[in-house]
Amino acid sequence: MANDSQETPELRKVHCNECRRETEHRLLMTVQGDSGENVELDELDGHECTIWWETTFDLLQCCGCRETLLRRTFIFSPHDDRPDVRYFPPRVSRHSPKWRDALPCDVRLLLDEVYRALDADNYRLPMMGARALVDMVMVEKIGDVGRFDQKLNELERAGFVSSKNREVLAAALDAGSAAAHRGYAATPAEVNIVMDIVENMLQAVYVLHDAAQKLKKLTPPRPARTARR
Ligand SMILES: [Zn+2]
Repeated sequence: MANDSQETPELRKVHCNECRRETEHRLLMTVQGDSGENVELDELDGHECTIWWETTFDLLQCCGCRETLLRRTFIFSPHDDRPDVRYFPPRVSRHSPKWRDALPCDVRLLLDEVYRALDADNYRLPMMGARALVDMVMVEKIGDVGRFDQKLNELERAGFVSSKNREVLAAALDAGSAAAHRGYAATPAEVNIVMDIVENMLQAVYVLHDAAQKLKKLTPPRPARTARR
């Protein structure tokens, strides 16, 4: 009999963290988890109603890169019209930069926490974390010299950020402060802009600055010009 569905039954379209997009996944195994049903009396109309629930675990493997993940689907009927679907490991919303390992340990660990908060679709926590990261870098590089704007000025004076980057960092700090003190939840687009700014600053301070110093040491000096005979 012909299959009307466009999708092969064993294949599922799921986001792949390695391929960084939605790809076909092969369903390797399905395991039934907790399930059951209860008959309850409806307090409003006095009728009996049956409630039931079921949990399903699907082991899925990307057809492209073979990365494998577990999908947990929980259905609670009749109260839920949409199942609760979770993935392990969760979908990565923002990937760590390649130069992550060049960062000092405390900065790297805080940056990792910010990424994990983003993976869980949190928006206030990453903003607070971004603000803490900027503060950490400023105190380490220029010392605790007063208010945020004073530290930013010092950061610019020390040559770690350009004038333009100082402006965008000030915006990032304001977003982090609003998240911490006024409960402001930034949109995903705003959070991504702040993360771009913070990553640029970290790369400039810890990666590019060191790379420039090393390059300077390795580059042989220009030979002195010899006078023509
Ligand atoms: Zn993949």
